[in-house]
Amino acid sequence: MSLGKQFIGFEQSGEGTDVLKSINPATGETLAQFSKATSAEIERAVAKAAAAFQVYRKMSGKQKAAFLDAAADEIVGLGEELVNICCAESGLPQARIQGEVGRTAGQLRLFANLLKEGSWVDARIETAIPDRTPLPKPDIRYMQIGLGPVVVFGASNFPLAFSAAGGDTASALAAGCPVIVKAHSAHPATSSLVAGAVIKAAKATGMPDGVFSLVFGDGSTAGTQLVKHPEVKAVGFTGSYSGGKALFDAAVSRPVPIPVYAEMGSTNPVFILPEIAKSQAETFAKGFSGSVTLGVGQFCTNPGMLIYEKENGAELTTQLETQFAQTAGNVMLTSGIYKAYNQGVEHHLSVAGVETLAKGAQSDALNTASPILFKTNSQVLGDNPQLSEEIFGPTSLVVEAQSKEDILNIARNLTGHLTATVHGTEKDLTDYKDLLDILEQKVGRIVINGFPTGVEVCHSMVHGGPFPSTTDGRSTSVGSAAIERFTRPVSYQGLPQSLLPDELKNSNPLGIWRLVNGTTTNGTT
Ligand code: NAP
Repeated sequence: MSLGKQFIGFEQSGEGTDVLKSINPATGETLAQFSKATSAEIERAVAKAAAAFQVYRKMSGKQKAAFLDAAADEIVGLGEELVNICCAESGLPQARIQGEVGRTAGQLRLFANLLKEGSWVDARIETAIPDRTPLPKPDIRYMQIGLGPVVVFGASNFPLAFSAAGGDTASALAAGCPVIVKAHSAHPATSSLVAGAVIKAAKATGMPDGVFSLVFGDGSTAGTQLVKHPEVKAVGFTGSYSGGKALFDAAVSRPVPIPVYAEMGSTNPVFILPEIAKSQAETFAKGFSGSVTLGVGQFCTNPGMLIYEKENGAELTTQLETQFAQTAGNVMLTSGIYKAYNQGVEHHLSVAGVETLAKGAQSDALNTASPILFKTNSQVLGDNPQLSEEIFGPTSLVVEAQSKEDILNIARNLTGHLTATVHGTEKDLTDYKDLLDILEQKVGRIVINGFPTGVEVCHSMVHGGPFPSTTDGRSTSVGSAAIERFTRPVSYQGLPQSLLPDELKNSNPLGIWRLVNGTTTNGTT
């Protein structure tokens, strides 16, 4: 089997002798092999990205948009070859991967459209008042610019939409930042195909060599070298708490610290309030069981905890038992993730006061998870904080509370999560307004009468949350606002019109919306 190579900008390179294998998790078969990047190859990728930044940052929004649109077309154009290899490497079904191709292309196009429209730079203009007393007011103009080369760690669970050309890459490229991807070891062949498509698009649209690179290697060596490199200016990551925190620590201990946007674990608590717990028990239990086991539970928004008052929950508990028993597992993304799932399940089983409420279909097939639903009460939860931590896979913990105050206390004791979900009638929601008030301070997205799995890619999405769900709860990794992670504001004071960026010229040649002396306008100044 020949060794696949790194993409060091427009060059393909395979100098290393260490090998990364692409493994089919359902069969254990080796699908392909890749050369892991040497330290010298990583150095070259960063040097190229730094040089490319000086060209790419000066390109217009329309030029960058053409690149992103072309990348979307190239990825879609990979067709069956991409879908087949991605299914084989991830164990995910064809329909899911086809959907992910569409989502990946859709994200690239979303950012392309943002660049074509142009107002995302948040231009603010304050014109001079030379005769103001006691001091004249200077002319000051503000906008967002790209940070510099960004390192992206692809996610295991979204081999396309959060990987080589996924949301982090699309938002960083849109911000004007070259990207170096550290491919996830779970799907190197998928990453390689996608990288080839992005490079083809970069060449076709006149982008500088180094605007995009993709390397294979271990997180602790190749990944850490990238994050510590002085020319790297920010990091995007999706994965485990331990991986994200290790990279965050490496980044903040650099002589010049850089931001790390790591999206890590989240238990995504769901609360079901009294009226709806009694009136909609079956419908809720069906929806909840489906959400917990969707994609073998391998979603960062998987609902890992369900809380309700015991006195309203008799029918709900019965329905959950029935509905969950009808679920089935499937092959997980990697043998390591399967092992971690079983360890988490074993831990829950070992805690006194935690019982098994229901099991889905059991299977002995390779790396195949069996769904399991646990039940406990608020006191056991309070005494065993580890029960609140994410188990990545098709499982959830039902927590019976004694009273409304007990529910509010559970909410108060939550750490940061990506989402919280509340099911209630209008009366429930009004009666529990204080619960919503607490949750707003704990999560990035509050879902009412829905389920947290299924993250819409749009302008108003927040997919982030307070620590430890992410390392920086002020941002989102999904949706157009994700671009803000890779920019910083700069003000120009007294710069002549001819030297100002087009976004800030009086004539407003781009026709973008700007805040001019406190008024929003897309006209001239
Ligand atoms: P992971 O182990 O954190 O790996 C993600 C990426 O980070 C990989 O490229 C990995 O490199 C790198 N990495 C890991 N530890 C590192 C370290 N100490 N220093 C530098 N780089 C490091 O995540 P995973 O493989 O995707 O899944 C493992 C667990 O992560 C799951 O069981 C689940 O708990 C969690 N997870 C959470 C989410 C979420 O959305 N919240 C998504 C996926 C997974 P290698 O290639 O060397 O492994």
